[in-house]
Amino acid sequence: MCENEILNNKNKQNVRCRYCNSLILRKQQGEYTKLHIDLPLMHQKNTTKDVNTIETEELVDFWFVNDMFIFENVGFSNTVNKRKYLICADCEMGPLGYHDIATKKCYLALQRVHHGNEQVKNENPPT
Ligand SMILES: [Zn+2]
Repeated sequence: MCENEILNNKNKQNVRCRYCNSLILRKQQGEYTKLHIDLPLMHQKNTTKDVNTIETEELVDFWFVNDMFIFENVGFSNTVNKRKYLICADCEMGPLGYHDIATKKCYLALQRVHHGNEQVKNENPPT
């Protein structure tokens, strides 16, 4: 599914927000890595903010970013279990990945971002 996006084990194209097209990470700045990480769904079906009831999904494909300053544009949301969630700096959609507070490394989920330069055409957010 994501093989086309990988060149020399790095991101072949620019990484953008799927919702507002903001540039998040320039090409060849992230290293492909496979992890098994549970991230909250981008749209919570319930409205409670209680972290114990937030619905999550397991994501496997990530761009590993060694330093948060490598990002062109990224925001942070709440911290859960020593992870700070990454969100779009412009439209605040997320989590797109997470920042590990202990190691200071960042991981961006391939499934949650858009690859390339062309505008995303009216993609509806997942329900
Ligand atoms: Zn955005």
